[in-house]
Amino acid sequence: MAKKVEAKSPEASDQEWMAQALELARAAELAGEVPVGAIVVSPEGVVLGRGYNRTILDVDPSAHAEIVALREAAWKTGNHRLAGCTVIATLEPCAMCAGALVQARVARLVYGADDPKAGAIRSVLGLAAHPRLNHSFAVAAGVRGEECGALLRAFFERRRADAAAEQSPIK
Ligand SMILES: [Zn+2]
Repeated sequence: MAKKVEAKSPEASDQEWMAQALELARAAELAGEVPVGAIVVSPEGVVLGRGYNRTILDVDPSAHAEIVALREAAWKTGNHRLAGCTVIATLEPCAMCAGALVQARVARLVYGADDPKAGAIRSVLGLAAHPRLNHSFAVAAGVRGEECGALLRAFFERRRADAAAEQSPIK
């Protein structure tokens, strides 16, 4: 007899998916990149794409976590449209990535920390449900937002400290 699968609340699975995106953000950090991670999940709950920020590694201004994950998901499914899919990202997507989510026709975005400087979902722009765009997607913001934001803050604090140490005359 098939084991009955216990239905999880969507919030519970959002938290679990975010754990995977956070893992990828940590991988970015180890690679010396700004710690942002993202995954693409199919309507059936299968992870189709994983990405982390790798703009320096790839010498590519478009290599944000979300773009990397979308590319993998599209390649894996053989379809540039990812209808019904959910994207989970540790940081609020920028204008480029939010635009890519519209292009990919994703159904839903889950993200962790707001990006007050470049966020294109609600902080700077509102591209998830823009009345002039031909596609909109649902948004759940602030999922494990504290953890996602803390990772970024620690990264930038360390980077500032390193820069200050480099400028110090005492070596
Ligand atoms: Zn982006």
